Amino acid sequence: MSESFDVIIGGGAVMGSSIAYHLAAHPGFSGRILVVEKDMTYQRSASALSLSSIRQQFSTAINIRIGLYGAGFLRRAKQALAVDGVEPDLAFRENGYLYMASDKGAPVLAENHLVQSAEGADIVLLEPAALAERFPFLNLDGVALGAWGRKNEGWFDGYTLMQAFRRKAKSLGAEYREDAIVAIERAGAQVTAVRLASGERLACGAFVNAAGASGAAELAEMLGVAIPVRRRKRSVFVFAAKQRLADCPLLIDKTGVYVRPEGENYICGVSPPEQDDPDCDDFDVVWRHFDETIWPALAERVPAFEAIRPGRAWACHYDLNIFDHNAIVGRLGEHENAYIAAGFSGHGMQQSPAIGRGLAELIVEGRYATLDLSPFAFERIAANRPLLERNVI
Ligand SMILES: Cc1cc2nc3c(=O)[nH]c(=O)nc-3n(C[C@H](O)[C@H](O)[C@H](O)COP(=O)(O)OP(=O)(O)OC[C@H]3O[C@@H](n4cnc5c(N)ncnc54)[C@H](O)[C@@H]3O)c2cc1C
Repeated sequence: MSESFDVIIGGGAVMGSSIAYHLAAHPGFSGRILVVEKDMTYQRSASALSLSSIRQQFSTAINIRIGLYGAGFLRRAKQALAVDGVEPDLAFRENGYLYMASDKGAPVLAENHLVQSAEGADIVLLEPAALAERFPFLNLDGVALGAWGRKNEGWFDGYTLMQAFRRKAKSLGAEYREDAIVAIERAGAQVTAVRLASGERLACGAFVNAAGASGAAELAEMLGVAIPVRRRKRSVFVFAAKQRLADCPLLIDKTGVYVRPEGENYICGVSPPEQDDPDCDDFDVVWRHFDETIWPALAERVPAFEAIRPGRAWACHYDLNIFDHNAIVGRLGEHENAYIAAGFSGHGMQQSPAIGRGLAELIVEGRYATLDLSPFAFERIAANRPLLERNVI
């Protein structure tokens, strides 16, 4: 006889652990939860290698709402995720994002700003004179407009958030097992069991695919569903600069290069253009991005960065949804008890509180109660109705 769980979650990083926590904490749920994670060191999980920044400067309403929800959650996480009186310190730095645009990009920034303001996000548009006053370290040549988040935007300790979700979920009864899901059994429209690399067979009442870049597409395939999620490599570079920039936000140059403070140092990167962004399985840092694209752009935009000392670098994968750069969340395909949370395209860390809560509601109550996540439904893909997000970093 195989062991049996009410819900099995495949993938136990930030998304799987947020779902496990929200399920375990849901007053209407009293079942048995198992999280199956193939590598408990998380050394190659995006959740451990993320920049963990949070914003409302998106172009789609749902992403803005999720960003606002996420910021609120970060503020109450100390209490919500405390275990035995130990409160996680998520070190939320609310310095904002500053998007800069040329004459050509300025109308798009202004258009997005209308959507963001309508959703209640505190973003201000700044002309060059106001930018120079607020951020005197910037060289504003070629910048026509900036958009800066005054509140609810910034960065936090994502690894601690993942571990805090995990610890809290366990304290509420969720179980974790280190193993890989290698097959999923079905009977008609029902998922009935998963098979693990260790040879075990575990029966389940519901199954959630939260396996990220390294496994979500593969787990979906085990259910006979093709999802447009691909592994796309992103390199992150650390550097030291002599001069500290006061209250530096996360800067996004008009070239797409980004930089933000990280402790005493700075971290930076860029998303390569589509033609230079192949599907990828390795974790080798692409140094030419720093030499050819990032550093020249940074040195121009911030004169203090002309003299820097490069440090370490790392690479990891986005689970890029190549259909429309937005998450796929909800029921998966024709299955009545299979769910997915994947395709976060570089913003899954900040979305983990809202998605975890929403999926828990969908599983327990059969509907979204807090935030309507139905725009992320898998069905939009089959129906060829993209929910295009313009602001992907
Ligand atoms: C360089 C970089 C910078 C980023 N910056 C930001 C940012 O600033 N803000 C932001 O919000 N987001 C950012 N992201 C994105 C964010 O980190 C991810 O969207 C988020 O961590 C995804 O979490 P996840 O749990 O879905 O996936 P992962 O963290 O990838 O976890 C999936 C887990 O599933 C496990 N798994 C896979 N297959 C199986 C299987 N068959 N059986 C069992 N377990 C399995 C894996 O081992 C892994 O631990 C960034 C990502 C990268 C790579």
